[in-house]
Amino acid sequence: MLILVILVILVASIWAGLLLAYRIPLQRLWREPALAVPVLIVESDDWGPGPPAHAAALGRIVDILARHRDATGRAAVMTIGAILAIPDNEAIRRNGLRWHDSRTLLAPDFDAIRKALIQGQELGVLALQLHGMTHYWPPTFLKAMADDKLVRDWILTSDGVETETLPSPIQSRWTDTSVLPSQPLSVETIRAAVAEEVSRFQDCFGVRPTVAVPPTFVWNRDVEQAWVEHGIQVIVTPGRRLTLRDAEGRPGGCDRTMLNAERGASGAIYLVRDIYFEPALGHRVEPTLAEIARHVRLGRPALIETHRVNFTGTQEQRERSLAELDRLLSRARERWPDMRFLSSAELAERLAQRDPSMVEQRLSLRLSIWIGRAAAIDRLRKLAWITGLAIPAWLFQVARRFSGKT
Ligand SMILES: [Zn+2]
Repeated sequence: MLILVILVILVASIWAGLLLAYRIPLQRLWREPALAVPVLIVESDDWGPGPPAHAAALGRIVDILARHRDATGRAAVMTIGAILAIPDNEAIRRNGLRWHDSRTLLAPDFDAIRKALIQGQELGVLALQLHGMTHYWPPTFLKAMADDKLVRDWILTSDGVETETLPSPIQSRWTDTSVLPSQPLSVETIRAAVAEEVSRFQDCFGVRPTVAVPPTFVWNRDVEQAWVEHGIQVIVTPGRRLTLRDAEGRPGGCDRTMLNAERGASGAIYLVRDIYFEPALGHRVEPTLAEIARHVRLGRPALIETHRVNFTGTQEQRERSLAELDRLLSRARERWPDMRFLSSAELAERLAQRDPSMVEQRLSLRLSIWIGRAAAIDRLRKLAWITGLAIPAWLFQVARRFSGKT
C-alpha cells in the first residue's frame, strides 16, 4: 500500500514537473483561440505595378473565387499583398545607374491592374493588404546598382516589374542588406518610410491598409510600432519574427515566435500563415489539403501562401496554377462543407473578440484541441509518453471522440 502511495506521489510529481517546465508554451497554446469551424484564406503577395496581362490574370482569379461559396454563401477570398512601386529601369538606365527612380501603381500604365484590384475588393473576393511601398529598401537597391552585377544586369535587361527575380536578400525591405549580415535601419527612417507607404496605399486604393505583410518576412518591432501608429492592426507572419539577413543572406535573427491572435508590443494582432501553395514550384492540391486538415484538427485557420508569379508566368504555368487553385477550393469545400471563407482582417477581428459564432467556447472541445496542439511539440510529446502523462491525455481524447459520436 505504502509503495503504491509513494509511486502515485512520484508519478504525480514527475507529471507536475513536466507541465511546469512547459507551462509557458502550454499557456500560450491554451490562450490561442480554437476555431469551431474550418477557415480557409488564400493569401497572394507581390501584386503591384504590372502589364495589362496581370490584370487579366486577376480577372480569372476573381472569377474562380466568386464561383466557390462557403456554407454561408460567401465567396472565397484571396488577400492581396500589394506592392505600390517598382524600379523605373528605363529611367535608371537613362541616368546611367546613378540614382533610384521608380514608377508607382498610380501611373496610367498600371491603371488596368489597379482597377482590377479595386474591383476585386469591391466584389468582396480580393482583400487588399500592405506588402510595401517597394519590395526592397531603395538605398540598398541603389548601392546594389553599383556593386552587384546581378542587380545591374537585372536593371539593364528588364522593365522592373518582376522584382521576384531580384537576388533574394535585396527583396527584404526592412533591413539594410548592402552589407551582410544586414544592418538595422534607424527608427526615424522606418517611421518616414511607413508614413509614405501607408499614404500611398490610400492614394492607390482609396482606403487605408489595416493588414501588413512584411516582404520576405523580415521586419522588427520598430516597423510594427510605426505600422500601428499609421493604422495597421494586423500583421501576417510565418509564426516567427526574423529581423535580418545573416552572413549568407538568409533570413535570420529570430527574436520572437507568435501564435494566432497574439499581440505584439505595439498592440498589433498576429496571424500565422504557414501553408504553402505555389503550383509554379510543383506544389499540388493533395498535400495542401493534408496541411489544411492538420490546421482544422488543431482549431487553426488555414492561411495559404501563394505568389503572383504563379499566375503571371508562362501561359502553361498560369493555366496550371489557375486550375490548381480551382481544384483546391473545390476539394476543400467537398471535404469541409462547413468551411468558411473570409478576409484576414475579418478573421483577426473575430479571433480577437473570441466571436462565439467562430471560436470554440465548449471546454471539452477546447481541452481536446489544446491536447492536440501540445502533442505537436515533439519533445513534450515524447516526454509525455515516457512519463505516462500521455495516457490520461489519450484517454480523454478517446472519450471525447466517443461521446461526440453518440
Ligand atoms: Zn513578397
